[in-house]
Amino acid sequence: MNKRWTIGGINNFVEKNSDSTLLSTEFNGFSQKLLFKCSCGNNFEKTFKKFKNNNQRKCEVCQPPKASR
Ligand SMILES: [Zn+2]
Repeated sequence: MNKRWTIGGINNFVEKNSDSTLLSTEFNGFSQKLLFKCSCGNNFEKTFKKFKNNNQRKCEVCQPPKASR
């Protein structure tokens, strides 16, 4: 079930599944932080693992790490 991700595949995923844009041009593994541009204009860093599995697909302004109640 381990799909091998490439930077192109990630770029596709980001385009189709989020409003953010991928700025990084290299992917060196799931522990690497990738640079994204949020739809609000902010840049943010996130590992692809978090981006994909934890649904953290926006910057911390649009999507704070901890939802305040
Ligand atoms: Zn944002």
